[in-house]
Amino acid sequence: MATYRLLIAYAHPDDESFGNGGLIAKYVAEGVEVYYICATDGDRGTIPDDMQGLYPSVRELRLAELACAARVLGFKRVFTFHYKDSGMMGSVTNQDPDCLWYHSQQPDLYEKLVLRVVDVIREIKPHVVLTFNKYGGYGHPDHIAIHRATTEAFMRAGDPTLETACPPYQPQKLYYAALPARFLKFVAFTLRLRGMDLRHMGRNKDIDYQAVLDHLEPAHALVDVHAYLDKWHEANACHKSQGGGGMSSQVPKWLRDLLVRSQGFTRVYPKPTHNRVDERDLFAGVVCE
Ligand SMILES: [Zn+2]
Repeated sequence: MATYRLLIAYAHPDDESFGNGGLIAKYVAEGVEVYYICATDGDRGTIPDDMQGLYPSVRELRLAELACAARVLGFKRVFTFHYKDSGMMGSVTNQDPDCLWYHSQQPDLYEKLVLRVVDVIREIKPHVVLTFNKYGGYGHPDHIAIHRATTEAFMRAGDPTLETACPPYQPQKLYYAALPARFLKFVAFTLRLRGMDLRHMGRNKDIDYQAVLDHLEPAHALVDVHAYLDKWHEANACHKSQGGGGMSSQVPKWLRDLLVRSQGFTRVYPKPTHNRVDERDLFAGVVCE
C-alpha cells in the first residue's frame, strides 16, 4: 500500500513540537511518513541557569532535546541543516555569516539554501509540505528565512531545468501553519487585563505579540488532534530548556487542551478560491503514488 509523506520545514529544535506536535503524532499514528527539516541548531536559545553545563554547548543541548522529541513524535527522518541561530530580529547576531538570516539575505547563499530544501523534497518526495507563514509566526528571522526558502523550493522542485542530485519532483500541496487565532486572542485578552505591554512580550521582551495578531492568516484546513494531546505534551517536555510547556506555560494545561484541540493551516497551493475551512485533513484530494 502506498504511503503518504509529509515534510515540515521549520527553523529550530522545538518549533516542530510547540507548533505542531499534535499534528505530527496524529499522522505518524495513521502511518504517514513525517520528515522534519530543522534549519538551525537553536544555539542562541536562552537556557535556565540550572541547565548550564549539562552539555558542552547550547547547540548540543538543543539537538539532544530535538532527538528526544523526534523519538516521541516518530519522525521518519530529521534533516538538520546546522545553520547558526540568528537570534531575534534586529540583534547583532543577525550579521553572523554562519547564521540562517545572513544566508537568506545574500543571493548566492540564499540560492544554496533553497537548493538544499529542493534536494530534500526530491529525495523524500513528500505529497504535502508545511512551513511557517510569512511573518514566521512571531517575526523570528530564522522562521521567515525558512518560510521563504521552503516556499521557493516547493515551486522549483518540479522544474526539469533545475538540475540537482535527484530528479525533479513536484509535491501536491503547500501549507503554512495558521496560528490558533482563538487561543492567541484569548491570551491577549488575559495579558491586557494584567496590564502587560503586548508589543514587548516573552522572556526577553522581544516578541511583538500585537504584530503576531496583525499577521494572522485564514485557516483552510482544520485538523482534529485531540486524541494526541498527551503525545504533544510529551514532545514539548523534551524541550525542557525552552520551557517545555508549549505555546504558553502561563495557561493551565486543561485550558490549552480545550483551545488547541484542532490545528489550523493556510493552504497556499493549490490556491484556495475562498477563505474558509473546507478541509479536515492535509492529504484531502492528494493522489498517493
Ligand atoms: Zn523557532
